[in-house]
Parts: sequence; C-alpha cells; structure tokens
Amino acid sequence: MKYCPLCRAPLANRILEGVERLACSTDTCPYVFYNNPVPVVAAIVELGGRIVLCHKKGMPETWFGIVAGFLEKGETPAQAVLREVEEELGLKGEISECIGDYSFYMANQLILAYHVRAQGEIVIGSELDAVKLVLPEEIRPWPHGTGPAVKDWLEKRKAGGSHTE
Ligand SMILES: [Zn+2]
Repeated sequence: MKYCPLCRAPLANRILEGVERLACSTDTCPYVFYNNPVPVVAAIVELGGRIVLCHKKGMPETWFGIVAGFLEKGETPAQAVLREVEEELGLKGEISECIGDYSFYMANQLILAYHVRAQGEIVIGSELDAVKLVLPEEIRPWPHGTGPAVKDWLEKRKAGGSHTE
C-alpha cells in the first residue's frame, strides 16, 4: 500500500506513540495503517486414530501441513474451523479441544488451533492435491505457522492430557 485510502496522499513511515507505522504523510488526515494480524483457524484432524496432513497445490513436494483457513464474515472460529475441515477434506468433524492461539509474525496472522475428530471418507477440496494419514507419533512439527500448535498438542497428548481413541 502506497497511498492513503482516505485522501490519496502518499503514505510515509511515522513514529506514532513510540511505534513506527505507515501513515498518511499529511498533517490534516488521520489515516494510519495499523497492519493488525488476521485471524486464521487451524485443525489437527484426527480420523480413525490417524492425523490428516494436507498438501496445498503449488507448495514444495515435501511440505505437508494441517487444515487452515480464514474466517468468513460473521463466523465464530469454531464454525470456521469445522467448515474448513469439510471444504478441504470432505469430512464432518467435531471440536475435541481448543489447543490455543499462536502468533505467526512472518505472515501477520493469529492462528487459533483446534483438535478436531472427524468421520467419513476424505474427498479433497480444490486447494489441495494430496493428503496423508499418519500416526500422531510420526509427526515432526515444523518450526513456523501451525507447527508450534502441533508440537504443543503432541506434547500434551504424550503427557496424558489428550488421548487418541
Ligand atoms: Zn490521508
């Protein structure tokens, strides 16, 4: 973003209340680009004792992740995560646990992560080109994005806080 959406003047980096922000370069216009994080829901989907890992179209071949997506206007995170599970995997799910919230600084996202138990046959959605089913103990969490949520869930599960049935 280069220009102010209110008055079309160029934006500039300005120090406002001690924080550098992109803001309107004029002194008369109040516009500030706060760049607030966007919420994203993510699901560790369990199906028949295994976890569903997804491969998004266009991603490097070895990069598998968990179901994740943005909220639609008016949705609660719980509604959004179950909708994403259905859209991406064709599965009906129910939330077993809220794992937590995770700041993904690089993508400017706030990830809300859930453990979802699902039923049915997988039918992959348009964003994916592959899935694999793995045992929880086979997963090696990735360092960024949804990885820390997966790591926390696995650790809690190992400690006996959450059991796979
Ligand atoms: Zn302006």
